[in-house]
Amino acid sequence: MTKKAPLVMIPGPTPVAEPVRQAMAVQTYGHNYSGFVEIYRECLNGLKTIFQADHMVVIGGSGTLAMEMTLINTVKAGQDLLVVSHGAFGDRFAAIAKVLGINADVLSCPPGSRVPLAEIEKALASKRYAALTLTHVDTSTGVLAQAKEVGELAKKYDVLYILDGVCASAGVPEPMKEYGIDVIVTTCQKAFGTPPGLTMIAFNEKAAARRDELGTVPGYYTDWKNWMPIMENPSLYISTPPVNHIVALNEAVKLILAEGLAARYARHERIGRSFRAGLAALGLETVTEKEALAPTLSVVKYPPNVDDAAFRAKVEENGVFIAGALGPLKGKAFRVGHMGIIGMDEIAITLTAIERALAALGVKVTPGAAVGAAWQEWDSVRPAQGCACCCG
Ligand code: PMP
Repeated sequence: MTKKAPLVMIPGPTPVAEPVRQAMAVQTYGHNYSGFVEIYRECLNGLKTIFQADHMVVIGGSGTLAMEMTLINTVKAGQDLLVVSHGAFGDRFAAIAKVLGINADVLSCPPGSRVPLAEIEKALASKRYAALTLTHVDTSTGVLAQAKEVGELAKKYDVLYILDGVCASAGVPEPMKEYGIDVIVTTCQKAFGTPPGLTMIAFNEKAAARRDELGTVPGYYTDWKNWMPIMENPSLYISTPPVNHIVALNEAVKLILAEGLAARYARHERIGRSFRAGLAALGLETVTEKEALAPTLSVVKYPPNVDDAAFRAKVEENGVFIAGALGPLKGKAFRVGHMGIIGMDEIAITLTAIERALAALGVKVTPGAAVGAAWQEWDSVRPAQGCACCCG
């Protein structure tokens, strides 16, 4: 008998809803078949609605490719980029900038905290930057950035604002027009709940004009100008799109829009709070400071004398797969994703596995306390109006 795979509770990839899974398994369409062209178009239009985007590019790739492609299309070698970093994924922008010959100034802070807005403003006032990058949720530290407030600063200093939405998009609001975001780089395997494999970029006319100003850019597949006509008319071709993936993403987008954006964001907030109420009942604390806690994942400190590998192996024995921490937090914390289709069933199973793993490693816990606390928090919140997912 094959071993049953554990419940996936890492911060991406996340579990996939049944209609999305079935869409992934359709017999492959020709990429220029009229039925597929319609699906591609529907998917792009749905994404434009979610992000308030003027343009949407969705191609085969990953979140990192979206980051690289965006810098290639918006900043020239030799220009200055301001990177606001709350961890490993913020720093990744600086690493990409380096290989592209872009000068990156990095503002960072201790793991779990946020770079103060005053510091960002000071940097913007001191130099004329070609662009600014911010990671909406840094998956290494669990920090939710101040995307709206940074948008106000970007507007004040007239700097192109690039937001990494990989661990936030479809779980945390990202209204481009309201927040003044020029580009959102993202992918499909986190709150979108689609198997990994897509590069997704939402951008506005200002970012499209910036691309035009650059003239030739150092990329072909990564030149979004090559893709823009295809995104307007998906029957055109420069490189074969990942057909099944786009069919699957379209199903995910339809589920998101059917749930309703406000209800979906409220559900993520409520799930995050409920999970953390459960953790607190086990005496566990997050690495992330209170004001910066992300709705999409939790990064949790180990209690004294709990070994990372032993703990995660015990959690897995109890049927749940969670992640270790990255960079300076490696071995000191673990990470749990709670986004996409994750609901209270999965939260309860995960808290039980964590509780049992701690007990097996000699930590004193009260059996059932975590799940009880999580449900108490869940029940204390009035659901947002029209939440089709969980409230009927
Ligand atoms: N940015 C953030 C915030 C991420 O969490 C990740 C992936 N964990 C990435 C970028 C890179 O995405 P990918 O692994 O799809 O390249």
